[in-house]
Amino acid sequence: MRFWALEALTKADLDLERLTVALPTIDPSTVPVHAASRRFRLFWAKGISAVAMPWGVYVHPDRLKQPAADVGRLMVHELAHIDQWRRLGAIAWFRSYVGDYMRGRRKGLGHHGAYRAVGLEREARDVAARLGG
Ligand SMILES: [Zn+2]
Repeated sequence: MRFWALEALTKADLDLERLTVALPTIDPSTVPVHAASRRFRLFWAKGISAVAMPWGVYVHPDRLKQPAADVGRLMVHELAHIDQWRRLGAIAWFRSYVGDYMRGRRKGLGHHGAYRAVGLEREARDVAARLGG
């Protein structure tokens, strides 16, 4: 199963002009969304519902069955990660992400807490909250 991110945003009735302003490197009509295979999901941490790669978004098939508004919000979050990749480059993105995560763990946060505290995750959550209705 594959479709374009634009489809999920349109079904959720999201404001595409605001998305373009918030995520200037993203054209959602060119970002493919895939239902993530069981084999790919073996590598995902527990509780992960989607993964953004520089070339597209992989979503747990169960998440794709949720209401359009929820899928739309998830899509904005994942597109924000692709925008970050494009703005920072892969190495700086990983350095920032893993650095924040490890700092959180060293402070005594558990996996989920450290993940929530990652700056790039907070930024993606903020964009999704602002645009996701
Ligand atoms: Zn994220």
